[in-house]
Amino acid sequence: MLRYALYTRKSDERREVTEKSTSEQLAECRALAPGLGTIAREFVESKSAKVPDVRPLFREMIRQIKAGEADAILCWKVDRLARNMKEGGEIAQLLIDGKIKEIRTPHACYRPGDNILPLVLETATSTQYSLDLKINVVRGLSGHFERGGWNARAPQGYRNNRDLVNPKVGTVVADEPRFTLLRKGWDMMLTGAYGPGQVAKMLSEVYGYRTRTTVSRGGTPLSRSYAYKIFTNPFYAGYTWYMGQLRPGVHPAMVTEAEFGRVQEILGMSTVTHAHVREFAYTGLMRCGHCGAQITAELHQVKAAGGTTKPYRFYRCADSKGMCTKRGLSEAKVEAAIERALASVTVEPELCAIAQENLLRSLKGRSEEASVIYAQQNAALADVEGQQSRLVSMWLRGLLTDESQYKAMEAKLAREKRNLLLKTGACRDELERMRANAEAGFRYAEYARQRFLAGDAKRKREIAKVLAAEYTFFGPERRIEIAVKPLLCEVVRYAQSVEQGLRAEEPPPDRPAGNTPTKNTLAESKPAKSGSELRTFEPQKVGPGSFELGQKVGGVLCGRTAETVLGICCVQAPSLALLEALRSEFFPEILGFQSS
Ligand SMILES: [Zn+2]
Repeated sequence: MLRYALYTRKSDERREVTEKSTSEQLAECRALAPGLGTIAREFVESKSAKVPDVRPLFREMIRQIKAGEADAILCWKVDRLARNMKEGGEIAQLLIDGKIKEIRTPHACYRPGDNILPLVLETATSTQYSLDLKINVVRGLSGHFERGGWNARAPQGYRNNRDLVNPKVGTVVADEPRFTLLRKGWDMMLTGAYGPGQVAKMLSEVYGYRTRTTVSRGGTPLSRSYAYKIFTNPFYAGYTWYMGQLRPGVHPAMVTEAEFGRVQEILGMSTVTHAHVREFAYTGLMRCGHCGAQITAELHQVKAAGGTTKPYRFYRCADSKGMCTKRGLSEAKVEAAIERALASVTVEPELCAIAQENLLRSLKGRSEEASVIYAQQNAALADVEGQQSRLVSMWLRGLLTDESQYKAMEAKLAREKRNLLLKTGACRDELERMRANAEAGFRYAEYARQRFLAGDAKRKREIAKVLAAEYTFFGPERRIEIAVKPLLCEVVRYAQSVEQGLRAEEPPPDRPAGNTPTKNTLAESKPAKSGSELRTFEPQKVGPGSFELGQKVGGVLCGRTAETVLGICCVQAPSLALLEALRSEFFPEILGFQSS
């Protein structure tokens, strides 16, 4: 008479699809017992057998068998005993050694003399089944991923959510107000004047940014390292990735692809421009006109009235080889030159509003043209997709049997689709960029000079960086050549043309002739050319006294409100040069310019 250890197991009581419950297993096994022998002990375990050494009752059964307290096993199926090779092997070895005299299930019986291959195979298949299950899970994940889903924890600015229709599907949604605050952070990065650490600091200290609170963490300021992760993470540009593959996601993008790319560029060159802690507003901005070296700055303390000292900042060629000059300009003089360049691209608020309204209306006309093109492109795309699915169904039905022909057609369609996607994307992005550039350009023309005069060193640097593509510094000649960005030049020219149109329609109130303020404005500058506008600005004294209306474009509109003029204003077509500038250049938004 054999003494049986009756072992039942169910991996998880909640899952009831494929496994019999332990009570059913018990009932079936007990029914076998009378014809076989006695049941020494019953084990009812509820644990997975995928991993070895995690089941206390299984261990106890093995101990009893080794101690001779039981000599056979009764179970519903061999895979109840083990689903990993280690414990499966242990059972098989005990059977070979004769410690286990019989393993009995309702459908099979193994004895020491038997071929134990079926037993080993059965546990092996169980192991394979565990692996299959894992692959199925991965496959499910990958399908979700193909559709643009994201299963992992959502990064800062986003939160995980459940799909309303199918709660089994996870979605990612914007986490306000963090989403908006982080967008501000991207704007700061786009100015090129800050590093991730500075942006993180400002978000935490000025805007009170705190990370999202979860059960175990959160509620803390943004760290520098996390900020760096954010500004290099393509998730924010609307992408997801899985096992090394990048896919367009379905979550809302925080930045456009172009903006993301621009920040990557800025981060790439950050080692050069953000390397030293900057006490000086304009270092790293200018190059020497004689030798091309960087312009560096020195801080001196000079005697002031009353026996005190005051700081004196001086800019000169770095002249590391001692071949150039050490003559330069004081910071006040550098600032005066920049301020004059700013004055030349400053447009009065009233005129700015009219010109911007004009330009946006004209762009809107273009966007209607573009939407027709866009619709055509979309139709072409749908056609290609239709062809693709027809090709697949022909292949599946066996109507097409030449594999190389199928592959070639498939590749051709994929190529067409990719080209069309790129085209529609470019078409959509371009208009969006033109509109954003127009708004940013006018905002700059309206506020930049004012903000520059009132700003701190950081703000001044930020504004100066946007003003020009290049600053060439001539120390001994005491002048700076400033290559003003084409977009700004064209925006000012456009404002001037709108102003002329207005003047032609309705003559302005009496004005003494020759008082039209054209000095220092672009009205008398060279005709438009491609690339930046290079002009020389001699430094002069800077201060509140030099802030006169006469220097601004559009003095003629003084005292009139935008509303009274808007009504009579016709749409002034933007010049080709302006359209080109709006299209080609990426003009970053200046943080805080929208709120005066
Ligand atoms: Zn030099």
